Amino acid sequence: MTETDTLIRGRILSFTAEPQGPDDTAAYRYIEDGALLVSGGRIAACDTWDALKDRAPGARLADHRPHLVMAGFIDTHIHMPQTQVIASWGAQLLDWLNTYTFPEETRYADPGLAAAMARAFYDELIRHGTTTAAAYCSVHATSAEAYFTEAERRNMAMIGGKVMMDRNAPDGLRDTPRTSYDDTKALIAKWHGRGRALYAITPRFAITSSPEQMEMARALVAEHPDCYMQTHLDENHAEIAYTAELYPDSKDYLGVYEDYGLLGPKALLGHAIHLKPREIDVFAETGSHPVFCPTSNLFLGSGLFDDAGLRGRGLVNAIATDVGGGTSYSMLTTLNEGYKVLALNGQKLHPLRAFHWITRGNALALGLEDRIGTLDPGTDADIVVLNARANPAMELRMERARTLSEELFILQIMGDDRAVEAVYVAGKRQKGSA
Ligand SMILES: [Zn+2]
Repeated sequence: MTETDTLIRGRILSFTAEPQGPDDTAAYRYIEDGALLVSGGRIAACDTWDALKDRAPGARLADHRPHLVMAGFIDTHIHMPQTQVIASWGAQLLDWLNTYTFPEETRYADPGLAAAMARAFYDELIRHGTTTAAAYCSVHATSAEAYFTEAERRNMAMIGGKVMMDRNAPDGLRDTPRTSYDDTKALIAKWHGRGRALYAITPRFAITSSPEQMEMARALVAEHPDCYMQTHLDENHAEIAYTAELYPDSKDYLGVYEDYGLLGPKALLGHAIHLKPREIDVFAETGSHPVFCPTSNLFLGSGLFDDAGLRGRGLVNAIATDVGGGTSYSMLTTLNEGYKVLALNGQKLHPLRAFHWITRGNALALGLEDRIGTLDPGTDADIVVLNARANPAMELRMERARTLSEELFILQIMGDDRAVEAVYVAGKRQKGSA
């Protein structure tokens, strides 16, 4: 026992497998009067209150009854430099990028601005219960520096990278094949595996990377197989047509990334909406991950993600906000909009599977399920405490709720940052009074 030990009491919910239906009680552990013993930033024990109450006599008690205690949320696709782009009026993807996003991202060459916005960005993640994210920084190495520096200060498990983009972007927002390689290489050497930080090699998308830059991305992925690779794919018809013009020799959009050796279990491909059958085959063969971004897909009118179809092919889909194309930092709001997108596709997103998805499910897609996404002993103590009575409308609705699934569905459909009562990062309380 050390003075950093904390005993967190509440209604504990942690997933052990992906729930296969509303009655799949084998997929999770739920303890009505449960507790977590947190020591040295990790979960030392997860059990009933009775079993743990005397185990660490000097531990600080954080009593969160009657709220739900779960693993912190994981956002697998978000743009740090779009903190002040979110909710920008516009047309479709390519206009939105050129009108709002690219001019905004040029500002991140300034280290002072990048540092200030990184602080604001992490404040929002924490306020919304997100304890890990995979983020795109701007083209400037300064923005990735600011991103990882702030993550380290908060001891958060964050994935990110500077975007590589050498064409079809304004002045001040292009690198070159050589500088993109050198800057990425230096950032990996400095940050990948330092503390809880992990690097993602980040060619923004095929439109903004020349074949010469794609060659550099290929080299980086080959030289750093333990890093992630994140990019965008098949979001919008105009984007797909332009990509085909720029890469006429590739079989299709995913074929571009395939041709340059970028795919594999560490590859995260944002959107993946308008997939051709061959592209789905390539996803399955390479173990790459489509990332569903429902609020963004609705906001930009991009299309409807086929979750069930891709899962049926054995793919492990991730889910994410995609702020600032996405319209909320909240993974709860993301589940709400995701539910509606899937409903338009004739599919259902049951609350048990939904809450698995934003915790253990995204951890699986990232290959980090032994570190984050559950409340298993030995994992990092990234924890969220949820209040399903966070506002009067939710309180009224909860009066009629009888089951855990009903409560979770109320959080999924009505919840946002107000439902996030407390957040712990590596055992340290970051939201709510200590
Ligand atoms: Zn994106």
